[in-house]
Amino acid sequence: MNPKNENVPKAADIPTITPEMVEETNIEIAKRRAGIPGSPLKNIADAPCPVCGLQSVSFVDDLVFEVVLTGERIVIPNLSGIRCSSCGDFAFDAVSSKIIDEHTGNKPAGGYECRISTVGAGKLGMYFPKDVLRVMEITKKVKAIVTPLSRRKMIVELYPE
Ligand SMILES: [Zn+2]
Repeated sequence: MNPKNENVPKAADIPTITPEMVEETNIEIAKRRAGIPGSPLKNIADAPCPVCGLQSVSFVDDLVFEVVLTGERIVIPNLSGIRCSSCGDFAFDAVSSKIIDEHTGNKPAGGYECRISTVGAGKLGMYFPKDVLRVMEITKKVKAIVTPLSRRKMIVELYPE
């Protein structure tokens, strides 16, 4: 019994990422980074955290992006951005966001069904399924910016309140 062995697939329907695939992604990211100027966040160290308030936000280059789309699990390691060493809140920088977009942008999202119901006073509320909370690590009060793209599509961006 080795609880740290993450190579053992937990669910058969989630494709396993092999070390070769991770290495391939690392090489790909290194290629993309070559010629791109360094992150503008590079000099950030011990900045105040918008979530916990401590002076512990610094530049990091070991962030991991993980998402499950239709029949596919995407894991992108070694991304740069900033992270709070106290509460763990993090944000990807522009270069990393671009890399994430390139790997996920043209893929159909699996999508989660959310119920929209009346919450009183003529307002409607949307309830996020537990899976969404887990994948996006939503545990605290956040502010959401909603951008309607059409009558059927919208982007929801979350920010710490
Ligand atoms: Zn913090």
